[in-house]
Amino acid sequence: MNNHVTVLEIDGNALDHNLNYFKNKLQPETKVLAVVKAFGYGSDGVQVAQYLEDKVNYFAVAYAHEGIALREAGVKTPILVLHPHIQNLQDIVDYRLEPNLYNFQIFDAFLKLADDAPLMNYPIHIKFNTGLNRLGFWHTDIPKIISDLKETNHVKVQSLFSHLAASEDLEEQDFTINQINNFAYIAQEFYKHLGYEPMLHILNTSGVVNYAKAQFDMVRIGIGLYGFGNDEKETSQLKNTHNLKSIISQIHIIKLGESVGYNRAFVAKRPTKTATIPIGHADGLSRKLGNKKGYVLINNQKAPIIGNVCMDMIMVNVSKIDCKEGDEVVLFNHQNMIQHIANVSETIVYETLTAISQRVKKVLKK
Ligand SMILES: *Cc1c(COP(=O)(O)O)cnc(C)c1O
Repeated sequence: MNNHVTVLEIDGNALDHNLNYFKNKLQPETKVLAVVKAFGYGSDGVQVAQYLEDKVNYFAVAYAHEGIALREAGVKTPILVLHPHIQNLQDIVDYRLEPNLYNFQIFDAFLKLADDAPLMNYPIHIKFNTGLNRLGFWHTDIPKIISDLKETNHVKVQSLFSHLAASEDLEEQDFTINQINNFAYIAQEFYKHLGYEPMLHILNTSGVVNYAKAQFDMVRIGIGLYGFGNDEKETSQLKNTHNLKSIISQIHIIKLGESVGYNRAFVAKRPTKTATIPIGHADGLSRKLGNKKGYVLINNQKAPIIGNVCMDMIMVNVSKIDCKEGDEVVLFNHQNMIQHIANVSETIVYETLTAISQRVKKVLKK
């Protein structure tokens, strides 16, 4: 049991709000897949999936064991495993997860497993590479895929999909539209020869924002669910889902000339009141936030992080703040604070969120 005082509160109402925000951009019949990989973007994939189960059509995780965790928690919704490996295929079947098959090695292995078992119409998903050049078949692979599929009724293609490389970047509009058109062409080819019509999907969050016309049958919403759109204006219409809180463990009054923390990185130029907080780089707080680059909120006032971020702790300057040991500390409770941390850490909010480590307690509040 995790009884850590440093807690990430996941805001259930904010998840609902964000989900509805994106649903409102879609046709009523378009399905929604909620991406809950990487522990629900650093929150808790199981709690998020349990909360959203009746409100979305599909979940996606990156790796098989993430899907197994959802099934073991009782989640019944279809779960797409975006990046399975041959070593995971038996588990995928045992837990009724749905594999993305992206190359012939894994495609052949899964068809063999399905034939040997034998399985009946087991749902699979086929991914095409349309320009990201990460995972996926090439359009020239279609004839062989189709001929293999025609020889078996042990699997059934549930969807064909692809992934956009720069959906957030309108300067890459031509490239993106080309990806979408290629995908539509691939789907038509596939349909013509397969004899039935699997679902199609290509849009992630910023795809829905910028290219809603290409919603096809389903969209895959990740970061948007967790409160981030393409730009500040859009993000301001979404609600923050990740609230990271802790408490003050200890307060020190240090004298002029005394130092704080490792490497004596902070030296007091005047008598200083410091607070020690039980969260460090092992919890996902970047070391780049040290030396006054980052701050926390204590009683609604900014307290800069002084000295270096330790593995398990930070120290902040609370000279001007009325506070005591045990008081609440807010690491972030708004998208602007998360964006600020990402900027100072020289990264994107995706990394700031997913960095929140497993040591932090996770609680979903309805
Ligand atoms: C992670 C991921 C998504 C979600 O992307 P967001 O930008 O977070 O909405 C969608 N599709 C695939 C294939 C992914 O890997």
